[in-house]
Amino acid sequence: MKFYSTNHKAEKVTIKEAILMGQAPDKGIFTPEAIPLLDEGVSDSFSKMSYPEIAYTVTKKYLDGFIPDDKLKSITEEAYNFDVPIEEAEPGKYVMRLDRGPTAAFKDFAARMMARMVEYFLEEENKNLLVLVATSGDTGGAVASAYYGMDNVKMVILFPKKEVSERQRKQMTTLGKNIQAIAVEGKFDDCQAMVRNAFVDKELQKLHLSSANSINFGRLLPQIVYYFYAHSRVAKDATEKVIFSVPSGNFGNLLGGLIAMRMGLPVKKFIVAVNENDEFPVFLYSENYEPVAPSRNCISSAMNVGHPTSLARLVELYNGQIDEKGIIHKMPDMELMRKDLFSVSITDAKTRETIKEVYAKNGLILEPHGAVGWAGIMEYSKKNEDSTPVICLETADPAKFPEELEKLGISPKLPESMKKVDSLEEVDKTAINADYEEFRKLLLAEYS
Ligand SMILES: *Cc1c(COP(=O)(O)O)cnc(C)c1O
Repeated sequence: MKFYSTNHKAEKVTIKEAILMGQAPDKGIFTPEAIPLLDEGVSDSFSKMSYPEIAYTVTKKYLDGFIPDDKLKSITEEAYNFDVPIEEAEPGKYVMRLDRGPTAAFKDFAARMMARMVEYFLEEENKNLLVLVATSGDTGGAVASAYYGMDNVKMVILFPKKEVSERQRKQMTTLGKNIQAIAVEGKFDDCQAMVRNAFVDKELQKLHLSSANSINFGRLLPQIVYYFYAHSRVAKDATEKVIFSVPSGNFGNLLGGLIAMRMGLPVKKFIVAVNENDEFPVFLYSENYEPVAPSRNCISSAMNVGHPTSLARLVELYNGQIDEKGIIHKMPDMELMRKDLFSVSITDAKTRETIKEVYAKNGLILEPHGAVGWAGIMEYSKKNEDSTPVICLETADPAKFPEELEKLGISPKLPESMKKVDSLEEVDKTAINADYEEFRKLLLAEYS
């Protein structure tokens, strides 16, 4: 199985190359040429398998020949050593909690498996990497925790000093060892621009730079798994269709689901719930695509995305082509897209109202991202009479957003993993200006 770039100019690569390279050299993103079907009958036994066993079975379809079976087994067991609870909030309506990993965000699912795959490939090649990450909050903590302690990877994370919460900062700055977290006097966009500059800087090539951002197929692959897992726990049998509601920003999560469906998972519909950054629902129903720039600031902050990076993969799945700037070169099959997807934009007011309602009615605490997903289900139900089981993905622990929830009179309990972070000493206090030269000098001084 080969991977091609969504810009169709770069050479095709293997999954191992796609994971080690991250982005394609023509600025497109790597996408599998053909999506493998699960072997007939395999999913019948998913209901009796553990999460790591399902992860092994699903990802083996891609990694066969690249990672030996026993190694892949231990990778999935080590990466998924926490619960993935599914709660029935109302008859037929479920919430899958993807927030029980070490950093209490669903990004743990992708980061923990990706880090282990990278570590294996690097050992095999006898290579080292310096991974640069720009983060607005959640990604930094998840990748830092996932790569912490690895021998062949050093990681430098740039975060906007004033835009991350204290807990988010501590998830990055209390680790030390191979992880350096740098506070930048600036915005997330400044951090991202500095990382991008570093990647094209000739003098820095000797540092063997790589990325861990969400366009890497290594982060998408693990996100296929929980759709199979959820189906196996909720559906009557392996053939019953279900609906998923996915609170979406860069669409990595959604793509995991769409690929699961192409692998044979029986899905009736994906509800693509976005916040006030409504470029996708507008596109789906008007067939005009226009990025929202600058993106709108909503309380579901991890979804403040005006032009989703994984949209290029989605458009490819429906036989179209769109480039990294958002220009459509070939229209996808919009009718088929509308058959598979229902999309809706949820305002902040509606998000807050949903958190309050679900808490009052079902005693369930949702945080702003999950609440966007739940509100998406309510909007879908208004327009469709449908008794198909529906599963909402909850992507973060409510305790990550205490300010927003306390305003609504809800006090979420802090998970153990986060209590621990609160009491840790910050070992990293490096701070720089939003100045590429300063960043560059630091990298050369500390890593060459
Ligand atoms: C990253 C993130 C999202 C959005 O996921 P995408 O894959 O970018 O669509 C949603 N919720 C939380 C809490 C996140 O951290």
